[in-house]
Amino acid sequence: MTGPYDAIVIGAGHNGLVTAAYLGRAGLKVLVLERREVIGGAAVTEQVFPGFKFDTAAHRIGALHPAVVRDLDLKRHGLEVVHADPTVFAPASDGRHLLLWRDPKRTVEALREMSPADAEAWIPFSELIGKAAAVLRAAWSATPPEVTGNDPRDLWSVVKLGVGLRRLGKRDMVEVMRILPMAVSELLGDWFESDVLKGTLAAAGIAGMFQGPMAAGTVYAFLHHHVGAGGGVLRPTARVRGGVGELTRALAVAARGHGVDIRTSQPVERVIVKDGRATGVVLSSGEEVAAARVVSNADPRRTFFDLVGPTELDPEFVRKVTNIRFKGVCAKVHLVLGELPRFSGVPEAGPHLNGVISISPSLEYLERAYDDAKYGAASRRPYLEVSIPSVTDPDVAESGKHVMSIVAQYAPYRLKEGEWDAAARERLGDAVVGTLSEYAPNLESAILHRHVLTPLDLEETYGLSEGNIYHGEHTLDQLFFMRPVPGSARYRTPIEGLYLCGAGTHPGGGVTGFPGYNAAREILRDGKG
Ligand SMILES: Cc1cc2nc3c(=O)[nH]c(=O)nc-3n(C[C@H](O)[C@H](O)[C@H](O)COP(=O)(O)OP(=O)(O)OC[C@H]3O[C@@H](n4cnc5c(N)ncnc54)[C@H](O)[C@@H]3O)c2cc1C
Repeated sequence: MTGPYDAIVIGAGHNGLVTAAYLGRAGLKVLVLERREVIGGAAVTEQVFPGFKFDTAAHRIGALHPAVVRDLDLKRHGLEVVHADPTVFAPASDGRHLLLWRDPKRTVEALREMSPADAEAWIPFSELIGKAAAVLRAAWSATPPEVTGNDPRDLWSVVKLGVGLRRLGKRDMVEVMRILPMAVSELLGDWFESDVLKGTLAAAGIAGMFQGPMAAGTVYAFLHHHVGAGGGVLRPTARVRGGVGELTRALAVAARGHGVDIRTSQPVERVIVKDGRATGVVLSSGEEVAAARVVSNADPRRTFFDLVGPTELDPEFVRKVTNIRFKGVCAKVHLVLGELPRFSGVPEAGPHLNGVISISPSLEYLERAYDDAKYGAASRRPYLEVSIPSVTDPDVAESGKHVMSIVAQYAPYRLKEGEWDAAARERLGDAVVGTLSEYAPNLESAILHRHVLTPLDLEETYGLSEGNIYHGEHTLDQLFFMRPVPGSARYRTPIEGLYLCGAGTHPGGGVTGFPGYNAAREILRDGKG
């Protein structure tokens, strides 16, 4: 038995590193154990092909918690966030295209050619979304209330949320409450007429979800991706210079600076529980490490079923964890390109390649892509979010060549026919490349190398249950005080001394650092002893 540590963090995803750094900063002796040979979890940059750096999971970052950047001095440790402009380029099915700029007035001008009515609606719509996202932003920082408890602090977090809503004024408050549970297709239908605009905005409401844009609750998912965007920016696209792995590298530097030990290639086999209390972990090598508390960055299913074991848990709690929906739907395709894609109508390289390229020509297109998945097959024409970071960050590729990263949806984890074997992986890669080639005909001939990750690959490589990119779906019944399950949404678990700090906790997935930050606060609140 080695140790004892004040805390062991299982997993060096970005949230695990955030929690570890804050605990170290508070004077705790902390050990991080990561199963992979690299840190970062789903925020990682890897040379899939030598000389070419790919963000192999997340290729944009979300609303990175400003306190994390400040407190952990991440800029001094080399973090540079780049806000792409335009944020999105979306080709339409009629050969035209949409550009969304960071400056709303510029977007209005771009929209005017497509639809004067949509141009008029843009600023009021983006203001409404900004206000709604600001309310969520306040809720993200708070620990969710314990619905079953009597702690006055629970009341306080509800009050804070209420105050945030009240500040909007009555009209906006009612409007935000009205839209929150809606289908994103209905919301967009109320405001806009252009197919490609509606499809492209709706794509933010279905990202990572086993749902189409016509499903209730997708407005929440849409807003989730606009928290922290501010200033009328819709579908924000922020990247990290050098790749998202530079963020997790900077976090690791900060954590080590606070005395944290980080060990890679160290899969934790199980959490040691004695008399209902976590007292350490056993590694797959058989080594036992003792700690006063254990914090899991793994998703709730892995944590409770693989690392703790149902026999240590109350059957009612086991039932709740069993019912968490994961249902991964994303695949990832990485391409090394000998030349940039030439899109019909915009064949030359230009700013349209700076942000993400969204293949989302209409709401119906997205809904059809979902239909395939609903019946257990990968979308024949998937929704694609394409990123070419080498356009603005040439160091990630060999000179004159480019890296293209594509999140493709829907690729359901469970297939009705067959399984995610090598042939299915290639078919998926073909569907993605074929779909994009309809808009950029030179793509196929530009490809030098191709790498495809199915949802099963995401599970096996990154440890994401069912390949779910958020450690559990972002549906309304799995958020806030219900994340990961009602009664255990305050980063604590039924096992004393065992905490959760990953995306499976409030406020959920994305590269934000909020779960890790909130978890550290609650752990320190429980005392350092
Ligand atoms: C394909 C894909 C695309 C995405 N795209 C985006 C995007 O563009 N923008 C965005 O904001 N978000 C995106 N996301 C979501 C985002 O990356 C995740 O929600 C977020 O990174 C999760 O961070 P985390 O630290 O909570 O967990 P993770 O990053 O999952 O980290 C958990 C860590 O725990 C480790 N671990 C698990 N079990 C054990 C064990 N037994 N022993 C030791 N270590 C263990 C894992 O190896 C992993 O390193 C994407 C995710 C994926 C997979």
